[in-house]
Amino acid sequence: MQTAMDMRYKSYVPYSHFHVGAALLTNEGYVYTGCNIENSSYGATNCAERTALFKAISEGEREFEAIAIAAGREEGIGDLITVPAPPCGICRQVIREFCGPDFKIVLHDKEGNIKVYTLSELLPESFGPENL
Ligand SMILES: [Zn+2]
Repeated sequence: MQTAMDMRYKSYVPYSHFHVGAALLTNEGYVYTGCNIENSSYGATNCAERTALFKAISEGEREFEAIAIAAGREEGIGDLITVPAPPCGICRQVIREFCGPDFKIVLHDKEGNIKVYTLSELLPESFGPENL
């Protein structure tokens, strides 16, 4: 979670000023990081979770244990107010492509308390590769 918190400062968010960082843990213990990257054509924006996952996939990783996601809203110059950010629907589906139902999604509440969910809790009755 600390790595995800740190990654918030790498995000490119000139439009929303909503910073998100992610840290993805592989089964072998490697960590891939990500941040959200906005675009003036809003639909081209990429979330922190998908940035981390796509980085890992592009490096040949296929098995994952958990992802930590942290978010913050700008408050003054360089300061962030920690706010919860559960993964959006698109990210849940992308995670589902590569991760099983017990994959852990580590979030924080606005006080910074850690909460751990499984993918099946956040995306029940999901559609995945085995459905095709
Ligand atoms: Zn997302």
